[in-house]
Amino acid sequence: MSQTASEQQAGGGASEVELKQQLVDCIRMLEQAGIIDYNGHASIRVDEQRIFINVGSCQRSRLTVEDICTIDLEANQNDGKANAPLERHLHCGIYRVRPDVKAIVHAHPRWSTYLTMVGESYQPVYAQGSLVYPVPLLDSPNAINNRPMADRLAATLGDRPAALLKSHGAVTVGKDILEAFVLANYMEENAARQYMALQIGKPYAFSAEEVRLCREKLWNANLFKRTWDHFHAKLG
Ligand SMILES: [Zn+2]
Repeated sequence: MSQTASEQQAGGGASEVELKQQLVDCIRMLEQAGIIDYNGHASIRVDEQRIFINVGSCQRSRLTVEDICTIDLEANQNDGKANAPLERHLHCGIYRVRPDVKAIVHAHPRWSTYLTMVGESYQPVYAQGSLVYPVPLLDSPNAINNRPMADRLAATLGDRPAALLKSHGAVTVGKDILEAFVLANYMEENAARQYMALQIGKPYAFSAEEVRLCREKLWNANLFKRTWDHFHAKLG
């Protein structure tokens, strides 16, 4: 099958086929890590008009590039073998106001959502988890399946790399899919550790200076790549 010029070159050098494969790998790794299940979605901004996202009905554990569809910034679907997720608006809302964001992960992970259910704020208790701290909270459990909710979530996220949605889930963003994936893992691992520590006492939260030091050392493309590779190696 021949490719057009735009298919061969998009997203800073990666071809569109490669971008779709990265998205597939990301979603399969999130499923394997227990961060997404039969819901949850991730997207990549391809250019000013187009977003790649998995179709809502796909099997995340057996995802292929055929399960990726294209939507625009207004949440209209352009192609694909099935419908984009109802919460496609979440992605569009963020991309509309954050030109720096090229990839987004949205999931309903257990540990970070538990914290939001009881009003326990996310605290930096684990070095990698401090990278997304402070994490703004959307004060509504409603699905992000319309434009007003999407705009509200985007406003809540502001210029941050991650947000939590009360009794609903989590969103992470990045300059590429690798970053959005890695931050999703770091945030959920931090939340799991915070939750477990809360069972036996009051977890120590890193100071502002300790958070700053972590960011200086750990917000690092090589370490992000190592994290991605760790999960990628487990894919069958
Ligand atoms: Zn959701």
